[in-house]
Amino acid sequence: MIKISQNVEQWECDYKDCRATCCRRSNPLTIFDVKTIAQRRGLDWSEFADFDDDKVRLFLKTGNNGCIFLDDDCKCSIYGFKPLVCRLLPFEISGVVQADEPILHLKPIDECPGYGSGPKLDEDFMWQVERDATLYLHENQKLCREFRDEDRDIEALLG
Ligand code: SF4
Ligand code: SF4
Repeated sequence: MIKISQNVEQWECDYKDCRATCCRRSNPLTIFDVKTIAQRRGLDWSEFADFDDDKVRLFLKTGNNGCIFLDDDCKCSIYGFKPLVCRLLPFEISGVVQADEPILHLKPIDECPGYGSGPKLDEDFMWQVERDATLYLHENQKLCREFRDEDRDIEALLG
């Protein structure tokens, strides 16, 4: 289940204004994201992702300027196959509740300057956000289940 804390009426990504604020942090990845990026860019997963085995979470690697796929013009160099979490904008994940029916909580990004301009976020837009959020939630569960229950190492899961 996807829960969104607050609706956004209108939004346009103004990455030049904010210098791509939401790409300056280490964003979470799913196995689906890692395999897609590895295949499309011909990279080994360890070149662009880190794995935290205590939290059982994959993250995008960051450098001094944030995400390693952010270019000098503040554009995403893997835009066509960017990770699921990057497709949820202008929302970000504020929590995941693991239960029989897991819940992914989303909220609008606080520091985003893009609200109030650009197109209205219509039903189609929100349907895509919910679809990508649902896939993220399922992938997140799959990573936890396969890593913990089957006692596999991350290399085996991503290889
Ligand atoms: S979504 Fe908002 S915070 Fe992120 S790059 Fe676009 S304008 Fe900046
Ligand atoms: S993958 Fe692209 S959209 Fe996602 S954080 Fe990196 S630069 Fe930003």
